[in-house]
Amino acid sequence: MAFKIIASQCTACGACEFECPTAAIKFKNDTYIIDAKTCTECDGHFDTQQCAAVCPVPKTCVKA
Ligand code: SF4
Ligand code: SF4
Repeated sequence: MAFKIIASQCTACGACEFECPTAAIKFKNDTYIIDAKTCTECDGHFDTQQCAAVCPVPKTCVKA
């Protein structure tokens, strides 16, 4: 139960980082990554995955 970021599509805009309710998103090695152990798919916080909702690049925050 986690989302992932497609690194080749991520523009490193940073929009997703602060929207994540579990602070699962971090900047590392020139891109943003989601910690699969921390990501809850926003369960219990939001009805939709916030990273995917705010990401300006389609299909970049996706189900892992
Ligand atoms: S799905 Fe939700 S909990 Fe998981 S990384 Fe995205 S914003 Fe964070
Ligand atoms: S919002 Fe999308 S493009 Fe921006 S840092 Fe997050 S995954 Fe990358």
